Amino acid sequence: MSSNTGIRIPGRLPLLLTHEGVLLPGSTVRISVDSPRNMQLVRSRLLRSTSLKSTIIGVIPNTKDPQSDAEDLPQLHNIGTAGLAVQVVGSNWPKPHYTLLITGLCRFQVSGLLKERPFALAEVEQLDKLEQYTTPIMITSENGELGELSQKFYQAALQLLGMLDMSVPVVAKFRRLLDSLPREALPDVVASMIRTSNKEKLQVLDAVGLEERFKATLPLLTRQIEGLKLLQKTKNSRADDDKRVFLVRKGGVLPGQQFSLDGEAGDEDGDDMAVLLRKVHGANMPEVALKVCLKELKRLKKMPQSMPEYALIRNYLDLMVELPWSKSTKDCLDIRAAHILLDNDHYAMEKLKRRVLEYLAVRQLKTALKGPILCFVGPPGVGKTSVGRSIAKTLGREFHRIALGGVCDQSDIRGHRRTYVGSMPGRIINGLKSVGVNNPVFLLDEVDKLGKSLQGDPAAALLEVLDTEQNHSFTDHYLNVAFNLSQVLFIATANSTATIPPALLDRMEVIQVTGYTNEEKVEIAHRHLIPHQLEQHGLTPQQLQIPQCTTMDVISRYTREAGVRSLERKIAAVCRAVAVKVAEGQKVTKPESENPVESTQEQEEMDAPPEMPIVIDRIALKDILGLPLFEMEVSERLTLPGVALGLAWTPLGGEIMFVEASRMEGEGQLTLTGQLGEVMKESARLAISWLRAHARAYRLTNMAGSADPLEGTDIHLHFPAGAVTKDGPSAGVTIVTCLMSLFSGRLVRSDVAMTGEITLRGLVLPVGGIRDKVLAAHRAGVKRIILPKRNAQDLEEIPANVRAQLDFVAAGNLEEVLNAAFDGGFPAAETPHTQPQLSSKL
Ligand code: ADP
Repeated sequence: MSSNTGIRIPGRLPLLLTHEGVLLPGSTVRISVDSPRNMQLVRSRLLRSTSLKSTIIGVIPNTKDPQSDAEDLPQLHNIGTAGLAVQVVGSNWPKPHYTLLITGLCRFQVSGLLKERPFALAEVEQLDKLEQYTTPIMITSENGELGELSQKFYQAALQLLGMLDMSVPVVAKFRRLLDSLPREALPDVVASMIRTSNKEKLQVLDAVGLEERFKATLPLLTRQIEGLKLLQKTKNSRADDDKRVFLVRKGGVLPGQQFSLDGEAGDEDGDDMAVLLRKVHGANMPEVALKVCLKELKRLKKMPQSMPEYALIRNYLDLMVELPWSKSTKDCLDIRAAHILLDNDHYAMEKLKRRVLEYLAVRQLKTALKGPILCFVGPPGVGKTSVGRSIAKTLGREFHRIALGGVCDQSDIRGHRRTYVGSMPGRIINGLKSVGVNNPVFLLDEVDKLGKSLQGDPAAALLEVLDTEQNHSFTDHYLNVAFNLSQVLFIATANSTATIPPALLDRMEVIQVTGYTNEEKVEIAHRHLIPHQLEQHGLTPQQLQIPQCTTMDVISRYTREAGVRSLERKIAAVCRAVAVKVAEGQKVTKPESENPVESTQEQEEMDAPPEMPIVIDRIALKDILGLPLFEMEVSERLTLPGVALGLAWTPLGGEIMFVEASRMEGEGQLTLTGQLGEVMKESARLAISWLRAHARAYRLTNMAGSADPLEGTDIHLHFPAGAVTKDGPSAGVTIVTCLMSLFSGRLVRSDVAMTGEITLRGLVLPVGGIRDKVLAAHRAGVKRIILPKRNAQDLEEIPANVRAQLDFVAAGNLEEVLNAAFDGGFPAAETPHTQPQLSSKL
């Protein structure tokens, strides 16, 4: 081609291995790449370079094994075509791949491979002399045999052209090329346009000499002409024309493929379109969607494959026919069976199971349920996802989890419009495609972690999905036709409702899932986690036994969590360690019996297969899991005045929280550290005010003995785990207790933890998350819990065995708190002021 003029290719080329087709000089082909090596090449050479055109790559047909370029580089075909990528389109659908449009420049020979990774790079030698094209001397009859051959070829090409419909763009292009190209370039160009198999194209590529190349291509051209002639004879002219136009348009190649007589070349593409059409009709889609599909199919037929849009439309149609427009599974709901199944799969969590059963029962009675969306809210690892899975199982439905954590682009939910390069459907449609039915259970995991960005608000998109009044016509931007989501059962999970967008929360029924007590965890471990992990590691109970006391040890000394996720991980670690022992045992026994070797007794002991079952005790646990992570007892931290133990609620469950205070000479400053939110800071100020107001009553003095504890004194309050942001009013009582201890020099009881909001007048107000907080305190070995009086009714939620082990003090005011927090109580010496004076400084 004239554009090739004077091009010299570099001595080193990155190699693209293709197994889809053969690129010939002067032609343009579409190549889809998805192997790691090719993807790397595209990323580092084509996408990073500022201009695609400046990067020449070597395209080598990989005729051997299509998969083999994934691992080891296959034996390379020796000759390839240097090419320019004129377009790169990336897509994640159905898997990550790039589609390249590459124009071939000239042949090259691989003279040495320089590296194989991350993509192949080779030393190459240019074969076609591109200089020839710079002097447009046509090969004429004076050039002897070559001249004759080229003349014959040209004539044949003209003859073919004469048989084709000039109104078809590809044919017109062929005509232009025939007129403008030097004859040397014709064999490559013609071979790439007429119907040829890859094998034949490869022969043309391998024909380095011009004469050889003409000889290789001429029979192909003649075959095409003969095929067309035959067809024209056998078919009536009208059908004939249609077919020809259809074929030409469809593939971007000239007709002939249909008619080639060599048997091996059937009409794959034509069949393909027919198959697609059949699929479109067979997909049972609503009329609107069907219309769109037929329209797109029509466009597709008219489009040469080399157009970038071809792949887009093709992908679109493939998705449309795969979507489960009217395919669904039949619900097999039996409430009694569901009850048993839920109980079998999950220990404890009675409240959640009850609510789920109610929900299912209503579904059973009223088949088309337009109820609220269930949203399970609770700390990680308490089985929210796993209950979702069980619901799907009880209904006999497909299950699909959509992780929403960090999603901040609404097109993640609703798809990209097809006008974008690399556009894709959203996760909902993707999920439907992967489950293949239109009534699955979709678990929207972590709805509280949805982000927001310039790309729109995904929560708003979710609203449409979850709104039972609207979601029967949910329109994904990519599909651009409505899909009925009303049969999908949505369940959401979240760690906390605080960050769920209110509009979304409004559409959901929140079911709180709280953490487990240590005893519940032991049960869960023995009923579910250990059997599951044993199976995962190929072990049997005859090989590994974990006694309950060991499980309790793992729970209390190696984990501190509301759920059972790290417990499960620790059990997995134990299983891994035992699996090694078991495997070693099996190995050791063999050589010993076959080939007895003398060994010292010590060695024998080491080599002897372990006795089965291996029982894990505390020592084995330390060997496997290392030193306990949570040994420091609460009491060890409460050995100085000015420390108190509070209880906090976080989205990850309840936690114990130390509050430390110290005082030093200063100007009455209050310093707060530990990443506190505004509410927490206010609690601290309230506490100090209350303290100053009651200093006389409690005989508190500053360091110099003055009645105002703050006079000439700076106070520093710290909430350890300083890297974690803390906020909320419930630390009020703890701060007061801590300061009281600091100023009085008395120690807070080492087994007491507390929670509660305070008022300026010293009342204790109720707070949330009591169950989680109590469980956390129990985990930490606390014996007495001080909580607001009005929270006393929340204690009913706490498992009886935990309740029995704890001493609860329900306090209505701070005096009661202090009395319970210090050994021997903390009586005020005189009646406190009724109206505390506020310092303007605080
Ligand atoms: P979440 O979704 O709440 O973060 P998962 O559902 O992923 O938690 O649960 C973590 C693991 O703990 C799963 O293997 C699950 O089967 C197990 N699990 C949690 N709670 C229970 C329970 N009550 N009974 C049995 N297994 C449980």
